[in-house]
Amino acid sequence: MRIRFAAIGALAALALSVSLPAQAGEVALTFDDLPVFGKASSTKQGEETTKKLLGSLRRHHFVAIGFVNEIQLARADRQARTDMLKQWLDAGMELGNHSYSHVSLNDTPLADYIADVARGDDVTGKLLAARGRAERWYRYPYLETGPTLAAKQGFEQWLSAHGYRIAPVTMENSDWQFDPPYADALKRGDRRGAKRIRQQYIDYTAAAVDWYRKASVALLGREIDFVFLLHASRLNGDSIGALARILARNDLKVVSLDKAMQDSAYKMPDDYVGPDGNEWLERWSQAMHKPLPYGIFPNVPQSIVTASDRLDHDTPRMPTN
Ligand SMILES: [Zn+2]
Repeated sequence: MRIRFAAIGALAALALSVSLPAQAGEVALTFDDLPVFGKASSTKQGEETTKKLLGSLRRHHFVAIGFVNEIQLARADRQARTDMLKQWLDAGMELGNHSYSHVSLNDTPLADYIADVARGDDVTGKLLAARGRAERWYRYPYLETGPTLAAKQGFEQWLSAHGYRIAPVTMENSDWQFDPPYADALKRGDRRGAKRIRQQYIDYTAAAVDWYRKASVALLGREIDFVFLLHASRLNGDSIGALARILARNDLKVVSLDKAMQDSAYKMPDDYVGPDGNEWLERWSQAMHKPLPYGIFPNVPQSIVTASDRLDHDTPRMPTN
């Protein structure tokens, strides 16, 4: 037995040294719409999702940051949802501001938007202060950064005056579209359907990670340290293990947002002003007049898009990002 273990250990060490490139890439994991993604999520389901997400992240020794919408605390289960935020901090994760009510700067006057964001760290700020910390990161809902230069710069000035840095996005996998049909299938007791959707999600995630790596090389000649947008969803609670395997296959090491943001790419200006909620590779692409390889961009399966739209048809907007 001992010899067998030793041999396996040596083989594993060899495999590790061969498969890892000289410079492994890095990725920061960011989860939006805390305490829990999904309008229909019950207290019990939210608690289960939080437990699964944090348990899986810790098992893989992953750090992450969660971006909070405190409007979710304005319910009868305020205490339970506040406890979910505490659990993120207790698990060693960071929390950031995602505005109070998931508003868009593109259709909200600047003063109202600022008031909403300022209100957004009431509870979270206190939880952090109790640990000698403060909120430092802001994530734009819908990735919408302002319809005019005046609004964009006005808000950026407010952010920096209040100690916030912008958390950009340079990798994403449309997880918000896969979660509603997944949660719906589980709710209906359709375990086979849920399993199928989860597999589609994992396959799509693998394709999306591959595309963002290629897009970074096409645009900047190298792979940057990525900032991966995910949501605190039931689907992700059940998929962190699969995500970990995809990241490992891609030699992507999970690092903190602070660490990923040390990449010099994030010093490039974001000049985009307009209606689109673009991720940052697209913003840089437009500024550089250099296209991203959209010809090989993976599409979300039509069945997922249709099901997701159908499940959210009665709400004006999905909390996409
Ligand atoms: Zn969001």
